[in-house]
Amino acid sequence: MNFDLNKIIRPTIKELKPYSSARDEFTGNGEVYLDANENPFETGLNRYPDPFQKKLKNKISKIKNIPQDCIFLGNGSDEVIDLIFRVFCEPGKDEVILFPPTYGMYQVCADINNIKTKKISLTKDFEIDEINLFKNLNNNTKIIWICSPNNPTGNTMDPEVIKNILNSFNGIVVIDEAYIDFSDSQSWIDFLDFHPNLFIIQTLSKAWGLAGLRLGMGFASKKIISILNKIKPPYNINSLTQEKALEAVAYLEEKNEAVDIILNEKVKLIKNIKLIETVKHIYQSDTNFILVKINNATNIYKELIERSIIVRNRSNVSLCEDCLRITVGNSIENKKLLDAIKEITR
Ligand SMILES: *Cc1c(COP(=O)(O)O)cnc(C)c1O
Repeated sequence: MNFDLNKIIRPTIKELKPYSSARDEFTGNGEVYLDANENPFETGLNRYPDPFQKKLKNKISKIKNIPQDCIFLGNGSDEVIDLIFRVFCEPGKDEVILFPPTYGMYQVCADINNIKTKKISLTKDFEIDEINLFKNLNNNTKIIWICSPNNPTGNTMDPEVIKNILNSFNGIVVIDEAYIDFSDSQSWIDFLDFHPNLFIIQTLSKAWGLAGLRLGMGFASKKIISILNKIKPPYNINSLTQEKALEAVAYLEEKNEAVDIILNEKVKLIKNIKLIETVKHIYQSDTNFILVKINNATNIYKELIERSIIVRNRSNVSLCEDCLRITVGNSIENKKLLDAIKEITR
């Protein structure tokens, strides 16, 4: 493997002189701040937020057991995804690899940035098609996007395959672990030291129950993180988000308890949905949702909406024909869903 970070960063980004904010130019403790054109009257939010979220990163670094300068925080994972494209991919020239069916934002961000995507369909078992992947790499392939556990299929990708990709690909390998807290698998964070081309994305939106807060986390080598810091909007994480996240991540036990409850509910839900005759298959899931193959899925989707129950119809997605993606709710919600499906399919 010949991974050379300097060779794969876009020249424009390498040479970029970043915006220097007041809080970049003075980082000590002052008494009178007259450097940022802020309003002196206290509103609780009259000061700019910490552009590097040091307090929050300090907490996260302890939870994730990783140095602070290997952490990047974004306005949701969506911002992290977009910035990764912009660091490494030259519009109209470079390419990335996607493994559909997968999370839709990779394609959307590629399109917005005018980056070509090569789509290597997952196998029927929703695994990465390694042979087909390696056939499709070329000198302009900059990023391989892996979602594991994958949305919408729910499975974790074979770690041996991921290891092969990490060891042989000279571009960036992104592993989106939005659902890692629901899975028994080890996070790839533990392998960052061994793979300079690895970039991991996690989020507070799922297991932590904070989708409205918009906090995405990126984990990578210090060098990669420093480049993302250079191009991010200076104050991308607002004060309220930093404050609330700081509070929330102190409740690690509560997060783990919520995950346990959701996983127990998932077991119950699977057991009961299996009993419905028109259900053809429930795919194995390492997440907080299940992918269910059911006769007349689109019709059931519409009938559920009639009953004010909203699931995700994935029927028109290749390899997910006749599939509904159902988020695991609380016990009352799950019972409502079950009763409704039973009524519709009777
Ligand atoms: C839900 C989800 C996210 C979360 O995105 P945020 O912008 O952090 O809310 C990221 N990746 C995948 C695959 C998801 O399903």
